[in-house]
Amino acid sequence: MNTNSSLSHRSKEPENSILYIVGTPIGNLNDLSIRAINILKNVSLIACEDTRQTLKLLNKYEINNTLLSFNMHNAKSRIPKILQILKNKESVALVSDAGMPGICDPGEDLIKTVKLNELEVICIPGPCAAITALVSSGLPSSSFIFMGFLPKKKTERHKVLLEISKSEKTIIIYESPNRLKKLLVELREYCGGDTEIQVYRELTKIHEENVGNNLNMVINFFEDQDVKGEITLVVKGIEKTKKELNYLDLKKELLELISAGLSLPAASKYLAKKKEIKKSIIYSLYGEL
Ligand code: SAM
Repeated sequence: MNTNSSLSHRSKEPENSILYIVGTPIGNLNDLSIRAINILKNVSLIACEDTRQTLKLLNKYEINNTLLSFNMHNAKSRIPKILQILKNKESVALVSDAGMPGICDPGEDLIKTVKLNELEVICIPGPCAAITALVSSGLPSSSFIFMGFLPKKKTERHKVLLEISKSEKTIIIYESPNRLKKLLVELREYCGGDTEIQVYRELTKIHEENVGNNLNMVINFFEDQDVKGEITLVVKGIEKTKKELNYLDLKKELLELISAGLSLPAASKYLAKKKEIKKSIIYSLYGEL
């Protein structure tokens, strides 16, 4: 059983039978903590997403340790193996290709299983693209929603985009460079072109770039570009009063059009054009009437 006191003081690391979740750099290899180096040097085994990627990091720090590939394709067979290693009083470090394991990276199921088996899990915190982007953005950071990668399926994506458009909290999104422009246009359709956004490309790397202001400007900026590198977006939540007004007004207008005899599809088409938003947004509002 885990207790606070058992976690409060560590005289010697790593300890036996502990799974260490180790945060690694998201680009700049200098962003590895001294504590992380010690753990990676001295655990019995390092479970990593891609051995070639982790080797680059280990070589830089002259760490010579055993690697075990652990990714979404082999997790099912690897979890019992890692569990057995921990039960045999050995220690294991879990790393991903970049950043914090478990954040859009493998780890969640392993950590859950280790805890279910009443073994200890200790995190050696490190960089995370989401948090790096959020704190750099200047947008409200005391409360936020991390969306990760948006779903690709149309209905699920619509639901999430609608949630984003109604959120009062800052939203963090991961996206691949080839899908960035499509996502920006969708965000404009759902949230409006004047919504504040900060886009981060290649954080901590040589070509680190921040493009920000509002969605209209960011869309213009990327329009003619062949976007490359890793991307994180931070979107400002809607102000409460604005949100209530927008949706109340929209609902009111929709009701008026329908009472005046327009069908739902016709009223939605008209309002979508007028407000420059998707028809599906109006349909979902109709469901709330
Ligand atoms: N575990 C990682 C973390 O803690 O941030 C995230 C891994 S996820 C598979 C990879 C995504 O994270 C990228 O597609 C991108 O959206 C974001 N990302 C990772 N590194 C980044 C960087 N250097 N700059 C901007 N975004 C980054």
